[in-house]
Amino acid sequence: MNTLKENIEIVKAKIDKACEKAGRKSDEIKLIAVSKTVPSEDINQAVEFGILDFGENKVQEFMNKFEHVNSAARFHMIGHLQTNKVKYIFDKVSSIQSIDSIKLANEVNKRAAAKSMKINGLIQIHTAKEETKFGLDESEFEIFMNSISDFKNIYFNGLMTIGTFTEDEKEIRRCFTMLRNLKEKYSSFKTDNCELKELSMGMTSDYEIAIEEGSTILRIGTAIFGTRGIEN
Ligand SMILES: *Cc1c(COP(=O)(O)O)cnc(C)c1O
Repeated sequence: MNTLKENIEIVKAKIDKACEKAGRKSDEIKLIAVSKTVPSEDINQAVEFGILDFGENKVQEFMNKFEHVNSAARFHMIGHLQTNKVKYIFDKVSSIQSIDSIKLANEVNKRAAAKSMKINGLIQIHTAKEETKFGLDESEFEIFMNSISDFKNIYFNGLMTIGTFTEDEKEIRRCFTMLRNLKEKYSSFKTDNCELKELSMGMTSDYEIAIEEGSTILRIGTAIFGTRGIEN
């Protein structure tokens, strides 16, 4: 079994290689180590090996670990977030990547405004074949963008998606292309609280494809921390 340090080195080398193949620079890409189900000790170890960004998908689990983790670590909420749980996390995370409704954006905005904060947010788009996945479809996204100035305490700097789970490379690529096209459609759209620059896409099974399709934020769990146990 590889150690955490080796896993990190392997992932970074593969990112470099995929960047080279795609004619991109590695420093255009931010790596988020997805630490869901991973104990705080392992997160602290990853910090020692130079990983500073972590992704969590469950509020309760994140809260339990947060206090025990090196304060250099930054956390990103990447899982579906219920509005009634925003209050626990909004001032502890570096970004919320899973903003998938006007209702949620309203709540995040309200909490941030009460503390005179500005929160980094990504809009989650549904690109996958699976209906169970979260995110706005194309027409919901247009409606969302029309109300973006209502959320002055959120700074929207990009889009996020989870590609279809499949071996079919063409289908995975279709998801990532769709996200990139939506971003490009809004390339000249700039307001005080919105400029879509980031594309958060690519996980353990598909990050090399995501790099080819323009990803700027990779969310990688298994390849770094190993196979997860049972998830609820
Ligand atoms: C779990 C998860 C990941 C990472 O998945 P791996 O396949 O372990 O790399 C990325 N993004 C989201 C939203 C996740 O829930």
